Amino acid sequence: GQHEASAYYFESYAHNDIHETMLKDRIRTEAYRDFIYTNRHLFAGKTVLDIGCGTGILSLFCAKAGAARVVAVDNSAILDRARENVIRNGLDHVITCVRGRIEDVTLPVDSFDVIVSEWMGYCLLYEAMLPSVLFARDRYLKPDGLLVPSHTSLWIAPVADADYVDETVTWWRDVYGFDFRAMQAGICDETRMVVMPAGSVCGAAHAFRMLDLHTCTVDDLVFTDRWRSEINNLPEGDEVDGFLLWFDCFFAESRDEKVEDRLTASEWAGQGKERVAFTTGPFGESTHWRQGLCLIDRTKHKTVKSGEVKALEGEITYEIPDGHARGLNISITWGPEGSKKQRQTWLLH
Ligand code: SAH
Repeated sequence: GQHEASAYYFESYAHNDIHETMLKDRIRTEAYRDFIYTNRHLFAGKTVLDIGCGTGILSLFCAKAGAARVVAVDNSAILDRARENVIRNGLDHVITCVRGRIEDVTLPVDSFDVIVSEWMGYCLLYEAMLPSVLFARDRYLKPDGLLVPSHTSLWIAPVADADYVDETVTWWRDVYGFDFRAMQAGICDETRMVVMPAGSVCGAAHAFRMLDLHTCTVDDLVFTDRWRSEINNLPEGDEVDGFLLWFDCFFAESRDEKVEDRLTASEWAGQGKERVAFTTGPFGESTHWRQGLCLIDRTKHKTVKSGEVKALEGEITYEIPDGHARGLNISITWGPEGSKKQRQTWLLH
């Protein structure tokens, strides 16, 4: 049931390897570090809550930046390592480690100036950790408090990559000389996490959902949004193979700083000052989140050939599957503008 599923989730964060992967993801970890170290004034003398501290890295950055008090919470056994990391680095007079679910724990401080958390999952919302952060925001963050990071945006783009389809779908037609097409069943039913070359993106990327983490609610995490993409990179004879999903992540310096809809991480960071933001998409350096690839199931749906359409449009739906609160079902409709749409659903579990 739900209780066991939850135990399994926290067990998955108990071991070294997943934390090594996250810490070695420099795009991720350096974004937090750079934001905290270049904005010491936001941390110096402040109280900070680190939700899901893992090894304690974000708490250590905040303590180094001069935080008066940091409370580091994690429900996984990794918390014991965090405690040791804090002591070995001589910061146990600043950082207090607490083991438990953020929803259940009793904290030694009851309101905070800053909440820092690395809660993002595949396709942003897989794993469903954000609701825990929003719960803690509403309960513990001061009215003028800051969330780090502050905004995220979700992106979709059509992709065409005949080589990838050959290697993953067509490949089964001849495995060591045997017909293994039985293995193709269901192969397009799940979102595949891959790093796609930028050249495989065959249409303009569309930002379909911006979350301001200071104000969004859990209702904003289940949605149907419209999307549209100009097909601009589909060579003669090629077909659209599916859709690529990724997120960008922004670190604003105040609650009032806006991130305009549809701005990419690099556009926003390029607007001056020393803004910190990163993308997990195909136009940036790859991260451990990779991108979500939703392959069109050609046994059930028509795809789109080059020259057929100038632009595609449709809707994208994010839903929580029944009986799997940390899973993510993504449905996409697509078709030429103003005409009938195809619809497919992909699972992530
Ligand atoms: N902050 C660390 C680890 C991020 S991974 C880093 O940046 O490297 C997310 C962590 O959040 C995991 O260790 C997981 O156990 C923890 N976590 C997820 N949901 C939680 C909750 N509701 N309460 C406490 N910890 C949680």
